[in-house]
Amino acid sequence: AASTPLLAVRGLRAAYGKIEALKGVDIEINAGEIVALIGANGAGKSTLMMTIFGKPRARSGRIEFDGHDITGVPTHDIARLRIAQSPEGRRIFPRMSVAENLQMGADATDCSEAERAAGLERVFALFPRLKERIAQRGGTLSGGEQQMLAIGRALMSRPRLLMLDEPSLGLAPLIARQIFDAIRTLNRQDGLTVLIVEQNANHALKLAHRGYVMVNGLITLAGTGAELLQRPEIRAAYLEGG
Ligand code: ATP
Repeated sequence: AASTPLLAVRGLRAAYGKIEALKGVDIEINAGEIVALIGANGAGKSTLMMTIFGKPRARSGRIEFDGHDITGVPTHDIARLRIAQSPEGRRIFPRMSVAENLQMGADATDCSEAERAAGLERVFALFPRLKERIAQRGGTLSGGEQQMLAIGRALMSRPRLLMLDEPSLGLAPLIARQIFDAIRTLNRQDGLTVLIVEQNANHALKLAHRGYVMVNGLITLAGTGAELLQRPEIRAAYLEGG
């Protein structure tokens, strides 16, 4: 029998007033996997990630983490379960220093001093640029550095599941590649489980072990990254010319 997935989403529905953003979504993420969620603007990708994180609340369906029902658990308690999120648009604290931003990540969970120190070391090994900028205000970092900081902050909570919303958005190709390389390193070296939402389907499906395609609040296609990259409908909709 297959082991319990780290995250299982079953029949999940969520809405903003009358707008049904999730219409019964099923996904699974196994421990140690990178799973990509791709789809057009407005498909509901961000909403799925946010609903797993507790806001908006699920209207129906079920979210299980490590076999436990976490549907309806408030966001701050989700963070304590060691699920971390780097939201779209990065949302770092612009007036706080790099160091303070990273500490805020550790504050989201009950990290020991040793865990904080180890977390900082990991983040700086992954993104040496952040160490060079440690005293600089977040808001004065470049877009790529802010993305590194947003991921670094999420890592400071020592997550078991890291959810990234459009980490390459607005970044130059070289910087985007550095971000994807860092995610791959975290997965291979630390065994970190990752859910990544991306417009850049090509990059995301090359990075991911498996992927899901979302259309209009529903999962319409699932497969390995390699399989999805070969599908003509994926190529036509998300890859060619873009
Ligand atoms: P994108 O790639 O553009 O971020 P997405 O796939 O992440 O798209 P969502 O942001 O989850 O899509 O949006 C799904 C639907 O829910 C869209 O129709 C959107 O307009 C709607 N929606 C999202 N956030 C809100 C909100 N705060 N209030 C009302 N409607 C919303």
